Amino acid sequence: MQITEIYKSLQGESTYAGLPCVFVRLTGCNLRCSWCDSEYTFQGGHKMAVEEVRNEVRHLSPLGGLVEITGGEPMLQEREVVPLMQRLLEDSYTVLLETSGERPLERVPAAVIKIVDVKCPNSGEADTFRMENLETLASRDEIKFVLSGRADYEFARDFTERHRLAERVNAVLFSPAFSKDAAGARDSSHCLLDPQELAEWMIADNVRARLGLQLHKFIWDPALKGV
Ligand code: SF4
Repeated sequence: MQITEIYKSLQGESTYAGLPCVFVRLTGCNLRCSWCDSEYTFQGGHKMAVEEVRNEVRHLSPLGGLVEITGGEPMLQEREVVPLMQRLLEDSYTVLLETSGERPLERVPAAVIKIVDVKCPNSGEADTFRMENLETLASRDEIKFVLSGRADYEFARDFTERHRLAERVNAVLFSPAFSKDAAGARDSSHCLLDPQELAEWMIADNVRARLGLQLHKFIWDPALKGV
């Protein structure tokens, strides 16, 4: 499979935020979200066999723990990424899969925790979520909406209610988008939607979702890769 990078850091998003985690970042994406901070994954990378990736994960985290399969869009390499996830589960890792949900998710092993990033209007990739994937979601999975304005918030709020997401999954996450050109200050000034404003909307509507901030952008310089 084509790999951009494998590294160990802290998980920055989801209900697993703050935990040490190995990231396996695959190359390539079929979407072009306006605020994407992973454009460096669109091309390049290097080929690695499933066993080579497995060995690198073992090297970085020999005592087990959390592994996130991310990208890019990892499910574009389904033929190899599904066996990789199976091997990592056999090695007793907790495996997270970060995906846009544009590709079919039926073949993802049941024990993998899917974190599905449903695209909102301002991303420029609205309506790319494959609705059949709702049926693949289970109580361990999480759905994330990255928001950069009121239209995104209303889309996420209405989608959450219409499809009863809070009853389907472990967590529904509303997360302010971060400027992809952010550098220097490690604070919310780089958020494209003020977290305080988002919090006030969520409280007013009593939404069944939790506010999520990208923890790693507040720990390290937002321009830093591989953290
Ligand atoms: S799906 Fe993810 S990697 Fe692909 S363009 Fe959107 S944010 Fe970037």
